[in-house]
Amino acid sequence: MKRAKREIDTMGTIINILVYHDHPDDILDGVEALLLDFNKRFSANDENSDLMRINRAAGVKPIVVDEDLFWLIKRAKNVSIATHSAFNFTIGPIVKLWRIGFDDARVPTDSEIKEKLPLINPHNVVLDANMQSVFLRKQGMEIDLGAIAKGYFADRIKAYLLERQVSSAVIDLGGNVLTVGSAPGRADNKWRIGIQSPFESRNQIIGVASIEDSSIVTSGIYERHYEKNGTSYHHIFDSKTGYPIVNDLASVSIFSEASITGEIWTTALFVYNAIEVINIMQQEDISGLVISKTGKLYMSEDLRDVVSFGQ
Ligand code: AMP
Ligand code: MG
Repeated sequence: MKRAKREIDTMGTIINILVYHDHPDDILDGVEALLLDFNKRFSANDENSDLMRINRAAGVKPIVVDEDLFWLIKRAKNVSIATHSAFNFTIGPIVKLWRIGFDDARVPTDSEIKEKLPLINPHNVVLDANMQSVFLRKQGMEIDLGAIAKGYFADRIKAYLLERQVSSAVIDLGGNVLTVGSAPGRADNKWRIGIQSPFESRNQIIGVASIEDSSIVTSGIYERHYEKNGTSYHHIFDSKTGYPIVNDLASVSIFSEASITGEIWTTALFVYNAIEVINIMQQEDISGLVISKTGKLYMSEDLRDVVSFGQ
């Protein structure tokens, strides 16, 4: 069995795939093709993607899409209409107004923001399961799957690897990590996955998790942000105000079996303060850790034997 790694620059991030297989390069070619196909169809930054066809037809007509995109939009809608969730997949017009993470990011005016708020309403996304079509009722509405898509892609890649009898792999979609099978050469079979520090550059870690067949997804305010006049604006928005959510969170990491579950929760919980997040995690039986802006770390009980910190 050979070990091979590939770095792929797409979806505005660096993706790393590690596989153990007799023909790892063929497997990696397949994964790369899958990722490029997802990017082509699901991107909110490519005018010709299937997602953007839906957005461009807002207020005009329903668009028939592939089964997988329809499924993901349906899941995103259900999460968005759930009460108390910060997750709202119709946030697109606000995301595009701020452009955080892009060179032309800016702080919009209050009136620009207010103008967009009536467009942010998941109830105005009409799904027709028979037609497999999506219709945005109001012109100017935009779906943004940025808070859920990478988790979904990671799960799809894992399924692809398992179909091809890959017994060991790590899928890292720019900080969303999903492991497959056991870690070769480790007595406990567990992969060692670094937990990114929210305060330092990539690859600075605050601890190491030992996991097997598990996903770790992190949402943080330092991942993508924009500094202006001494204020730092991050990329997760409050759908009621149109401004980045204000609280004491620096990052939320969720451990789960499926990566999409972690992806949804990290964004959905981002509306709360660190203490509230950790309480909800305990109530809902979610494994995770939270770091506040002052550097305080909170962790769910079950992770005590999973995550180790520096000596
Ligand atoms: P994540 O890093 O998974 O929390 O996703 C953040 C991305 O989701 C942003 O870059 C936006 O594209 C999008 N987004 C921002 N705010 C929200 C929100 N309140 N609900 C859903 N998606 C959002
Ligand atoms: Mg997310």
